Amino acid sequence: MSNLPQFDLIIIGAGIMGSSTAYHATKRGLKTLLLEQFDLLHYRGSSHGESRTIRATYPEAFYPPMIIESEKLWREAELDVGYNVYFKTEQLDFGPSDNTSLLVSVPEGWIAVVSDGGVLKATKAVAMFQTLAVKYGVVMKDKTEIADVVVDEEKGGVVVRSGLGEMFYGKKCVVTAGAWVSKLVKNVSKGVVNLPIQAIEMTIFYWRIKDGCEEDFAIGKGFPTFASFGEPYIYGTPALEFPDLIKAVVQRGRECDPDNRTWRPAEMVVEDLKEWLKLTFGDRVKWEDGPVMSQSCLYSMTPDKDYVIDFLGGGFGEDVVVAGGFSGHGFKMAPVVGRILVDLVVGGKVAALELDEEIKWFKIGRFEGNPRGNVKH
Ligand SMILES: Cc1cc2nc3c(=O)[nH]c(=O)nc-3n(C[C@H](O)[C@H](O)[C@H](O)COP(=O)(O)OP(=O)(O)OC[C@H]3O[C@@H](n4cnc5c(N)ncnc54)[C@H](O)[C@@H]3O)c2cc1C
Repeated sequence: MSNLPQFDLIIIGAGIMGSSTAYHATKRGLKTLLLEQFDLLHYRGSSHGESRTIRATYPEAFYPPMIIESEKLWREAELDVGYNVYFKTEQLDFGPSDNTSLLVSVPEGWIAVVSDGGVLKATKAVAMFQTLAVKYGVVMKDKTEIADVVVDEEKGGVVVRSGLGEMFYGKKCVVTAGAWVSKLVKNVSKGVVNLPIQAIEMTIFYWRIKDGCEEDFAIGKGFPTFASFGEPYIYGTPALEFPDLIKAVVQRGRECDPDNRTWRPAEMVVEDLKEWLKLTFGDRVKWEDGPVMSQSCLYSMTPDKDYVIDFLGGGFGEDVVVAGGFSGHGFKMAPVVGRILVDLVVGGKVAALELDEEIKWFKIGRFEGNPRGNVKH
């Protein structure tokens, strides 16, 4: 296998997680190959589009320290590349008072929390990490679907093989395959590792602001990113991505095979949103006309909605690390996840020891004999 292209690290999947990992790896001097099955910056996975929100309101104690670290790393990468992908604003969370994600009480029966929030420009952020990775020497190859990863019995490490028979040698490998991660891991582990990660087809919507009300919804004028923790859960962003449009989305979708999806919204989603916009913003948003723009995107859900970040194990030992199941809330964490993945695959543990504690929640083994995973209160 010594005639194959040789790398310290091969990353499979060039969404936000793979691209951030490539940035951290190359910055540390690892000879890195980033592989993608479709075009770079394609719109068929989870990381494309105009925006993702960043917020720190989580009921689980292990996410906020990761967000603090991630925020620092977003700013570091922005400085490195010379432009912004992270636009700060406040985050307004509101909903029924028994919701554990909301920690401060306001009028009886309801609570609302204002905290630090922001909007991340999604595709621009993926492009940023890829640009930086190129600056630090990554090799990127798109239109290369990986079919298999096998142990190199002669010298250790792995051989990664595409569906068309191309092969690459890596001392180490990271799998960041988004909604395809279960399929790929099942193949690679010869059916031994079955990740309970379900692809869900989601749709985001943009709505027109009524004439004369544009300033009320502008990010620069203090309009927050928002989340309504009722049933259904609805969240959105201020006017930033498109002039005079806000994003409002119902967190509800349809289970799918990522290679065979409808590209259409789930039932009743638009009607629920119209009702919610009417109640919340009254006549300041043209809800009655319906959304003016929509876009399909994939969630990768675990049963407990916590991430999967772990060694694949088996014959691969600590040479292959898998990261997936980001359950609709991974984007904001991409810088810290990328750094954790490089730490794990290079050193076997997370360098910032305080985060070593956090990632124990993301082990694959939590589902063994316990299909629901982490216990939630
Ligand atoms: C509508 C929507 C709204 C969201 N909102 C938020 C938000 O507000 N805040 C937040 O933090 N998160 C949010 N998320 C979640 C966040 O976007 C995801 O957690 C994140 O993008 C996951 O990135 P990924 O790199 O794991 O997956 P992907 O971006 O899907 O990347 C995986 C890549 O691997 C490639 N791949 C797969 N299999 C192979 C193979 N065999 N060979 C080669 N390449 C392969 C795929 O083509 C893909 O490009 C949202 C997600 C969606 C869909």
